[in-house]
Amino acid sequence: MSKDKPEVRYYRKRVELFLLIDKIKLWPSHTGVLHGIKSVEVSGPGLARITTHCNRSFTVSNSRNSRAARWLRNKWFRGVCPKCGIPEWKLAKYDATRFRRGYGSTLRAELNRPASGDRRRHRLKTLFAEVGVEAEHTVQPELAHCFEARAIDQAETPPH
Ligand SMILES: [Zn+2]
Repeated sequence: MSKDKPEVRYYRKRVELFLLIDKIKLWPSHTGVLHGIKSVEVSGPGLARITTHCNRSFTVSNSRNSRAARWLRNKWFRGVCPKCGIPEWKLAKYDATRFRRGYGSTLRAELNRPASGDRRRHRLKTLFAEVGVEAEHTVQPELAHCFEARAIDQAETPPH
């Protein structure tokens, strides 16, 4: 894999918005400017407080059908925030991200991935608990590799 051309990643079209923004750390504003996300914190049931690198804060709901969710999936933006200083590799990675119905990661396996770090995993679990989603996080940690294996299986099946 070349450093200039990131690997194409597939995510489910109906991936949880919170998991998606926590993963890609980008936010398209309603004016079409792409910001870098500094933090995502739970602020209420189904709500998260997002802070950008240019220090804007706002609350969003975990809706897959919201404007931001749709714009993220369709990669609609007309400019990149100069203050956020999003690195080129992050934009390239985003560019190589594909969203498919019924194919790709739901990102829920992240919840059980030891490599993702305890703090991050804890925060994601909190996000999930707040939105009341029944996720794979109820699964015993020793079974987590099953989700990983399934994700790999799916990745090896070419999308249509
Ligand atoms: Zn910004």
